[in-house]
Amino acid sequence: MKKIFFLGECMLELRAIDGTTLNQAFAGDVYNSAVYLKRCFNSINSVIVTALGTDAISQKMRHCFVEEQLGTQLVFAHAEKVPGVYYIETDEHGERSFTYWRNDSAARKVIDFYNPTVIDELASGDMFFFSGISLAVIEPNARAAFWQSIDTLKAAGVKIVFDPNYRARLWQSIEETKQQYALAFQSADITLPGVEDLQVLYAVESVEDVLAHLSNYGINEIVIKNGPESVLTLADGQLDRHTITPVENVVDTTSAGDAFNGVYLGARLSALPVSEAVNKAAKAAAVVIQQPGAITAKTIFNRAMADT
Ligand code: ADP
Repeated sequence: MKKIFFLGECMLELRAIDGTTLNQAFAGDVYNSAVYLKRCFNSINSVIVTALGTDAISQKMRHCFVEEQLGTQLVFAHAEKVPGVYYIETDEHGERSFTYWRNDSAARKVIDFYNPTVIDELASGDMFFFSGISLAVIEPNARAAFWQSIDTLKAAGVKIVFDPNYRARLWQSIEETKQQYALAFQSADITLPGVEDLQVLYAVESVEDVLAHLSNYGINEIVIKNGPESVLTLADGQLDRHTITPVENVVDTTSAGDAFNGVYLGARLSALPVSEAVNKAAKAAAVVIQQPGAITAKTIFNRAMADT
């Protein structure tokens, strides 16, 4: 059975339904990817690596991971911390605004739970995925241990996968981000950047600019997402441009890139060629953006994917 680990943070999502009602869900970029991978490729072991607390919300979250059939052997319980929270409100023009409470979340401590047994488990995987958000969430004093673990996993033959997913507010400075991202690109076997994410950091404007920027790192598989425009891949030296069919009725673009990542990686772990992996990933992303929230209801998602 193929196995992939997703390291990062899952948060409590509170969505305003009306003036007094909030809808509760769980979401976070790497969690979203793990869920969509598992839904499309049930035979792959999709494992979430994170820290929760011992509170009621943490217990519900863990239950949700199990319901989504994710591996939970590396979901740790911090004795004092609790999960992060975010609140989404959509105004009358459809513009979304987000408010976060995550500075002191349990997930920030995940690397504290690393020990030789945990590293052995991670080293038994085929892939290890982390994002720019995962990197920002890891506390600065735990970064050395994190990068050391990445070296160990690489040496064990685990493919390292990185999505830059840049969120300015999670970083002290652009310099700090660039320094961490350089390490990530140096380690990555596969990277899945979006053009928008890298614009601010490297002044890139197009998929071609992103490709040129990343060409310095010797990454074997580069998958560049550009919304409804196109996807550019450079894998094993072969360059391909894939067309995307734009969705006419976009409801909520939250987690489009996450769904794309999860399904793309599931397809690649299933030995599908890059073009088929992109098609399946783009289909999943198109389904997700026609529904509200990060995680589309399972029945709706599965039915839409079965129609492909
Ligand atoms: P992110 O969500 O990481 O910013 P993108 O906006 O590039 O990433 O979207 C990720 C993927 O979602 C795209 O590669 C594409 O497959 C799909 N997608 C995004 N927007 C649209 C759209 N308007 N129509 C169809 N597909 C879309």
